[in-house]
Amino acid sequence: MAEFPQVRINLDYLEENVRTVVSRCAERGVSVAGVVKGATGLAECIECFAEGGATQIASSRLEQLETAKRLNTGLPLMLIRIPMISEAAEAVRLADISLNSEITVLRELDRQAGIAGRNHGVILMADLGDLREGFWNRDELIDAAVEVETGLHNLELKGVGTNLGCYGAIQPTVEKLEELVSIAHQVEDKIGRKLEIISGGASSSYMRILDGNLPEGINHLRIGEQILNAYDLEKYYGYDLSDMHPDVFTLRAEVVEVKTKPTHPVGEVGVDAFGRKRVYEDRGIRRRAIVAVGKADIGDSDNIIPRDEGIEVIGGSSDHTILDVEDAKRDIKPGDILEFNVNYGGMLYLTGSASVKIRFDKTGK
Ligand SMILES: *Cc1c(COP(=O)(O)O)cnc(C)c1O
Repeated sequence: MAEFPQVRINLDYLEENVRTVVSRCAERGVSVAGVVKGATGLAECIECFAEGGATQIASSRLEQLETAKRLNTGLPLMLIRIPMISEAAEAVRLADISLNSEITVLRELDRQAGIAGRNHGVILMADLGDLREGFWNRDELIDAAVEVETGLHNLELKGVGTNLGCYGAIQPTVEKLEELVSIAHQVEDKIGRKLEIISGGASSSYMRILDGNLPEGINHLRIGEQILNAYDLEKYYGYDLSDMHPDVFTLRAEVVEVKTKPTHPVGEVGVDAFGRKRVYEDRGIRRRAIVAVGKADIGDSDNIIPRDEGIEVIGGSSDHTILDVEDAKRDIKPGDILEFNVNYGGMLYLTGSASVKIRFDKTGK
């Protein structure tokens, strides 16, 4: 098979990014679960998280935790999507800790842990407004905590956590995180002991580390994106990430057509390949190129950003991405390989696509 489309992953950069985030968090007394789902749990990437100092390896997908288990990193494995009841047995076999928000799921985890003769750690999630997972009602969370502590003997209540900045785009402000700490204290009062983990969110909570205003008590974050794709906090919130590598991932794709064509489609406009009505800007006649990679590999055409100055992604379909190369600084022709930065969505699709060749760069220093 052809070498393209190809995604290159620089493992030295990745491991350095892990080290940077882990050490900055450690300065604030915070440990880091390395979240590997953004890179589809590739074994080589999991190893970088382990080598770089993550405290746990985390994923939303059990098959990725299975890869991690096979690698014998010695680190606890954390399931960060609420377990499906149908995967409870697998969850207690593969994960040492899971995030939870349903008492029925907790009871099934307890039952399965009993059958397997294992102990399974749980973190109860509080929804602080982002409206994805988590207990909305505080009393319900506390009741669940008490039941785990006193009635579900194969489970160990490790702590509480929250998720922000995902569905609802709610920012991990100091106030939100203080609310989590107060929930933790309420649980601690009820069960009469300290909780081991207060998990204050994902990459977006790293802003509180950079600002130095993470509330006292938060001692754990679950971080993927900020390590794998270290530029979103800079791009969207203006943080200085110059101590990190933004370019762990590089997509390399081959040009299959270069022609001068109109920029506005010619004929009666209906819906595109995905049933969407689109607006096409008429920029006159321009030089454009097609690279052999498409939405099946990258999710959306906007998920890749050409590294060449003067080249712009203008759209695509399942297997094609169309570029405007009119202002390219060099002559582009069929057979040329173009390089792209990829954002989180692009990285997620590329590392999971069966048509994409994954190649690793490692200097081994
Ligand atoms: C995906 C996920 C994370 C990690 O998110 P990043 O933005 O990649 O850091 C943390 N916690 C939960 C529950 C998640 O689903």
